[in-house]
Amino acid sequence: MIERGTIAAVSTARAPAAIGAVRVSGEDAFEICDKVFAPVSGERLCQRRGYTAAFGHVVDDGTPLDECVALVYRAPLSYTGENVVELFVHGGVAVADKVFTLVCRAGASPAEAGEFTRRAVLNGKRDLAQAEAAASLIAAGSDAAIRGAAETLTGRTGNSVAAELERLTDLNAALAVWADYPDEDLPEVKDEHIRDVLTGTAETLGGALRRFDDRAATARGIDTVIVGKPNVGKSTLMNLLAGSDRSIVTSVPGTTRDVVTETVVLGGTMYRLSDTAGLREGADEVERAGVELARKRLDSASLIIAVFDRARALVKEDTDICYYCRDCGRPSLAVVNKTDLPPAFNKEDLGTCFDRVVEISANDPDSLDKFISALDGLYRTSDADNAPAIVSERQRECISKALGAVNEALDALDTGLTPDAVSVCVDDAIAELGYFLGRNVSEAVVDSVFRNFCVGK
Ligand code: GDP
Repeated sequence: MIERGTIAAVSTARAPAAIGAVRVSGEDAFEICDKVFAPVSGERLCQRRGYTAAFGHVVDDGTPLDECVALVYRAPLSYTGENVVELFVHGGVAVADKVFTLVCRAGASPAEAGEFTRRAVLNGKRDLAQAEAAASLIAAGSDAAIRGAAETLTGRTGNSVAAELERLTDLNAALAVWADYPDEDLPEVKDEHIRDVLTGTAETLGGALRRFDDRAATARGIDTVIVGKPNVGKSTLMNLLAGSDRSIVTSVPGTTRDVVTETVVLGGTMYRLSDTAGLREGADEVERAGVELARKRLDSASLIIAVFDRARALVKEDTDICYYCRDCGRPSLAVVNKTDLPPAFNKEDLGTCFDRVVEISANDPDSLDKFISALDGLYRTSDADNAPAIVSERQRECISKALGAVNEALDALDTGLTPDAVSVCVDDAIAELGYFLGRNVSEAVVDSVFRNFCVGK
């Protein structure tokens, strides 16, 4: 344990609440808290064993201020790895602040943002990735965010990144020994083995990136475009989903000339919907501009909802959309609309161009549930659910650079470069995975991680 003075902070929010907590960490935590805490049992905190609780009062110059439960943790078995006392008093703004002032007067220094966690990292209680997970857990706004942060916090992510780092280190060690001692009777490191190791690592790292990006997209709202030829019912569907008349619905083709956007929550998932101009050739100039915009949105959206009018036979504009969705590699849902009218084609005619097909009548509010079920889970975290969870942009950058270096190593292998060239790239990947875990990172990086923490964490 490295000695850095004793710090204190109010760890709970400054708002009316049942409980307020003041946390004190450092070598003198017990002695300092003994000056402000009078236990009912008479046993001083510095005499107590770790992991015990004492009931008593917070006192200001001998005058009791509030009832208090003091939790005692002895180094190294605490969050920070240091002696820690947590004083629980009544919540709200004034009481905890007063206790904090008393503790500082008794010898503690006010903690900086994230300083408790920073000490935990410096004392080897957790790695940098776990520290970031703590901040991510505090900020979590969804089940998926909690799950990801928890996986990192409990060390699952760190373990799998460390495992990849070890595989690469073993590979480089084997390459180095083999290259440095050509005369020894050492087994050759076969290209196949190198490729297996690198491909395995690339898959794991790629999965981690996809999982992070998918989650970020989901948190912002899945970027979703509604496309189809004019008059198939796109705006009607948009209004059904948005629960308002945001898009103009008329039976005149070409009414939606701009892109109309709306953020909606459907089945617990947030979507950023864009209703676009109907895709058709030969429109007037204004409409052509709308069609152009629609195509751009189609090219950039993460999820495509393609609408078809079941009462009209499929034409080229429809089949163009089918082939686009088949080939674009992004999730797509075909909506066969107007089921209240006699059909002019079957949903089977759409072939296998879409991930899912749903038949609805967009102007019937009862269709909403059916539509939501069809949409549910369509934009998935693909195959990446089991990949390591990344919880910060810093971590993403490390993984992304490591993956880049692994891919370069694979390229070097494929183009027949020397084992040295492969080895240099693998070294870069090893360094990045190390940074991910907080090994050899600069003070500036550590500072930037903790700058975003709250005081008291
Ligand atoms: P868009 O051009 O694709 O946006 O199509 P609109 O949403 O403007 O709808 C075109 C016409 O189809 C309007 O008159 C709608 O009322 C009508 N419409 C939309 N959905 C349905 C449906 O499920 N059944 C029937 N019968 N008409 C619909």
